[in-house]
Amino acid sequence: AQEEREAIASVPTGLFVGGQWRETERTFAVTDPSTGETLCEVADANPDEAMAALDAAAKAQAGWAATPARERSEILSRAYQLLIDEKERLALIMTLEMGKPLAEARGEIGYAAEFFRWFAEEAVRIDGGFMPSPAGNARFLVTRQPVGPSILITPWNFPMAMGTRKIGPAIAAGCTSIIKPAEFTPLSMLALAEILQRAGLPDGVVNVVTTTNPSKVMPPLIYDPRSRKLSFTGSTEVGKILLEQCSKTVMRTSMELGGNAPFIVFEDANIDEAVNGAMAAKMRNIGQACTAANRIYVQRAVADEFVSKLSERMGALEMGRGTEDGVVVGPLIEQAAIDKVTQLVADATERGANVVLGGERPERPGYFYPATLLTGVPDDAEMANTEIFGPVAAVSVFETEEEVISRANNTPFGLVAYVYTENLRRGLRVCEALESGMVGLNQGVVSNPAAPFGGVKESGLGREGGFTGIDEFLEVKYVGVQM
Ligand code: ADP
Repeated sequence: AQEEREAIASVPTGLFVGGQWRETERTFAVTDPSTGETLCEVADANPDEAMAALDAAAKAQAGWAATPARERSEILSRAYQLLIDEKERLALIMTLEMGKPLAEARGEIGYAAEFFRWFAEEAVRIDGGFMPSPAGNARFLVTRQPVGPSILITPWNFPMAMGTRKIGPAIAAGCTSIIKPAEFTPLSMLALAEILQRAGLPDGVVNVVTTTNPSKVMPPLIYDPRSRKLSFTGSTEVGKILLEQCSKTVMRTSMELGGNAPFIVFEDANIDEAVNGAMAAKMRNIGQACTAANRIYVQRAVADEFVSKLSERMGALEMGRGTEDGVVVGPLIEQAAIDKVTQLVADATERGANVVLGGERPERPGYFYPATLLTGVPDDAEMANTEIFGPVAAVSVFETEEEVISRANNTPFGLVAYVYTENLRRGLRVCEALESGMVGLNQGVVSNPAAPFGGVKESGLGREGGFTGIDEFLEVKYVGVQM
């Protein structure tokens, strides 16, 4: 408990604006979802207090854009190293405010740091082009420049990695930014800001605004013509509102929105590997990921074997506070998440699904829901059409490849899909036919800083990470030169 108090006390709680920590008129409580108790209070920005962050970002933009790429790169490298050196403290802060088990929080700090390492490497590789015009009488000079002050809005489920995934390329590209973390998990981002400052980031390049009232506080920043880019990770519902707001000044946007991932196990799959993959794709982050396996389709011949092995594995998972050794199933983020999962399970069973495992809330404080496995989940069940965002595996049987592709694609979402088969031709055929931005082929986790993460359809616009990640923060400029 002493260690926990020290970790929380190490985090500055003001707004981070122009390199200063600023107090606000109001504050709000950050809660431990495993107990419901308050951890600390942080600044709750009103619209004027938030606008100061855009003022600071706009003021710093020209100087930052002119800072040599090597310097921007070295700041990211130092921040990478600090994240690694301070992993234990940062992981504990994350577990306390978000609930995920410490082992997963440590994993996320490592993953988050990798975005800084990747973009430190990318910062010095922003290239351009030179070519003669087809008629030969002109030359085309193509350069890439920072898009400008950027608004970054992140969710609570990966409080650090969703931040570094946006801040990393913004810094690398030469953009200043205002980041608004989710109100459930502001501490990770405030801790990151303090680290960036220690890494030598100039004042105003990254600013952090915490608020409980984003729908009122963010629009003035979005409508301000000084803001040139908005990068958002969160729900499709909020993403659509933001896209509409961004249309006002034709802002550049990147949108990482909701998913409804199919997880397909063919009869020629390695079933043990498929079960391992399903455990990762379903149970990572207690099921609270946009990449979570939301619909598990298993071909009839292997359905019994797959379900019994998955049920055994899920049934062995320990539930508890994320700080306890051995815990895999931590709490969900809030009571509303429990209510939603409870309602989705009730709806599915009313429509004929069977509960193989779990399904009953334990009697204890905190927002706990047990690992739950349902079979025979019909396609019209609500949980097959909305993100479950909890530790509930929804299994359904299929007969043919054609059938499962059509069922998998029958959704407005298209973030990620998972396919298990040992047949190479089938694997590639199905990967091509699936309408999603990413596919895990015999792999239950696709997230990697060096790969392009993103969705199609209502799952989003743009890609984060990989070689294209930095493009989201760059504008292309062409100079025509008369010869
Ligand atoms: P989730 O379902 O993951 O909580 P949300 O889309 O509600 O996703 O939230 C993601 C982020 O968007 C959070 O930082 C939240 O504060 C922010 N947010 C929610 N509503 C708005 C809004 N109207 N304008 C700007 N940001 C918002």
